[in-house]
Amino acid sequence: YLEQAIHGRQMSRAAASPPLPSILRGAKKYDVTICGAGFSGSVLARQFAEISGQRVLLVERRDHIGGNAYDHHDEAGILVHRYGPHIFHTNSEEVLTWLSRFTEWRPYEHRVLARVGGLSVPMPINRTTLNMIYGLTMTSDVEAAAFLSGMAEPMADIRTSRDVVVNAIGRELYELFFQGYTRKQWGLDPSELDKSVTSRVPTRTNQDDRYFTDRFQVMPRDGYTRMFQRMLDHSGIDVMLGTDFHDLSAAERGELTVYTGPIDAYFDHRFGRLPYRSLNFRHETVDTAYFQPVGVVNFPAEGVPYTRITEYKHLTGQVHVRTSISYEYPSAEGDPYYPIPRPENYGLFRRYELLAAAEKKVIFAGRLGSYRYYNMDQVVGQALAIHRRLKQARRVGAGM
Ligand code: FAD
Ligand code: UDP
Repeated sequence: YLEQAIHGRQMSRAAASPPLPSILRGAKKYDVTICGAGFSGSVLARQFAEISGQRVLLVERRDHIGGNAYDHHDEAGILVHRYGPHIFHTNSEEVLTWLSRFTEWRPYEHRVLARVGGLSVPMPINRTTLNMIYGLTMTSDVEAAAFLSGMAEPMADIRTSRDVVVNAIGRELYELFFQGYTRKQWGLDPSELDKSVTSRVPTRTNQDDRYFTDRFQVMPRDGYTRMFQRMLDHSGIDVMLGTDFHDLSAAERGELTVYTGPIDAYFDHRFGRLPYRSLNFRHETVDTAYFQPVGVVNFPAEGVPYTRITEYKHLTGQVHVRTSISYEYPSAEGDPYYPIPRPENYGLFRRYELLAAAEKKVIFAGRLGSYRYYNMDQVVGQALAIHRRLKQARRVGAGM
């Protein structure tokens, strides 16, 4: 059944005739209705079904499960990520252990190069990057730290994504590595974005060229979609693809709703639209075994319309005579991928959050429901915490 669900044939509204699939006839068949089959909705579906013994209907607008982490084999038979590179990294043993029930893992440490002034240099900036850019031969952390403090322009009040970088490494490196990339990625100057955005990327004085330094850096061995498939393979869970949550009638919904779509959409954009950044992907297969030396190459220059190129075989370890890549073109239009961290957006979000707090039987979760720039592991951690909290509240309510 799930094999079918993944390919969008089962229970898709478009495909179902009459319009309502038979499982929905008879109101209140479900205890919980979940909007969105990404990490957030899928982890909660499993917890509600397995731990709480509840009947769950998981409704997904797209024709597949997995949310933005969805991967599939393209026409050449190469495993690619439809919505851009998803690299799993976490410091949370709880999150890793929980997911490990549904997948085995392949060790993978992500490496990124940035194309700057005709060179391909490690990103995050490390000692090698500095040596290459400035033709230096620094051999110690101390030397590199001294070099960077000579470049840095310390600031008293660090608020924006520009401040945080210029404060640490100065204007020159900021302009080379961060300014153009950020303007393209967000359609905003770094000075208009919260400092948390560029703070995601550190600067190093050693030669560590890994993108992440988390304790656990692994990829699901058979892909994300396969992991989701196993997660949702439970008798208490029905998955309904190709269906907008808002098309369900009140009678079709369970007692409890979990909403992992954009929070402003739930409330009909009553206070205006929350801004989200989108991306367009150009997927290509090329006739060479490898296209680039690492999984991702970044292009900070503003003259290049895309931000990065991903080559998936590096991420997945797949062996194939050809290789598939994708270019990312940031866009204001399209599916909501990134909440945009800036004070006025959080101000608007807080107004929606107040409405959300008044909805006693609806839980908002995930990147879009919480309007937070969460990584996958954070979304899983949030979902597990939400379920734990509800379970506890029920126990207290029942006087146990
Ligand atoms: P989503 O995955 O967005 O799932 C929400 C689902 O809800 C979607 O499938 C959507 O179709 C559905 N939905 C929305 N509205 C409705 C509706 N009305 N009715 C029915 N269904 C609806 N994280 C990492 O940890 N590492 C990475 O390397 C990484 N790379 C990323 C690269 C890109 C390009 C992007 C965009 C994100 C990346 N992330 C990465 C973040 C990661 O994608 C998210 O943390 C995670 O997927 C969020 O899961 P979610 O369930 O909250 O949301
Ligand atoms: N960034 C940049 N240059 C880079 C890489 C990142 O300016 O070469 C900035 C950019 O604003 C980006 C942010 O740092 O949006 C966070 O980078 P990350 O790689 O975490 O972005 P994601 O993978 O979430 O798109």
